[in-house]
Amino acid sequence: MESDNANRLKHWIREVPDFPKPGILFKDITTLLKEPAALREAAHLLAERFADRRVDQVVGIEARGFIFAPLVAYRLNAGFVPVRKPGKLPAETAARTYELEYGSDTLEMHVDGLSSGDRVALVDDLLATGGTAKAAADLVESVGARVEAVGFVVELTHLEGRRRLEGYDVVESLVRY
Ligand code: AMP
Repeated sequence: MESDNANRLKHWIREVPDFPKPGILFKDITTLLKEPAALREAAHLLAERFADRRVDQVVGIEARGFIFAPLVAYRLNAGFVPVRKPGKLPAETAARTYELEYGSDTLEMHVDGLSSGDRVALVDDLLATGGTAKAAADLVESVGARVEAVGFVVELTHLEGRRRLEGYDVVESLVRY
């Protein structure tokens, strides 16, 4: 659900046309991050959306998910577990490859990052087609943990990424375009 408080965050999100390639309207959150009240509000509102769930670990997706996930983890008294681009994590990893418009991408997580039965909130900055979040959710489940909730600061509704996440009870976004 999009609340008035959340909707106010839109003011701080800059739109950059044709980045990183022609035709993409990039939602730049750096303008929100540098605004103390907006940063605090984004973290607070995301954590609030998960408040009725018991969350053991917050999983963040590299790179912009790393900004918000630890803030949410701090508020929920949970831990933080990184899901990273290939070749970055030093110990044994599990991997998931997913399709992009052109080509494919891979995400990795330490196999001991989560324990079987852990309740996880998955956090990224933005939901577009949902491929990234679905791959991260599959990684979480591959080690026996449970995705309790998924949260984004921004959702691009026309790309219908939410449909890829239909199996999850709680899929929240703070602002929608
Ligand atoms: P997707 O897998 O299609 O849901 O894409 C989500 C990932 O791509 C997120 O990690 C976003 O950071 C990034 N992303 C996709 N589209 C945009 C956009 N228009 N503006 C900013 N980031 C985007």
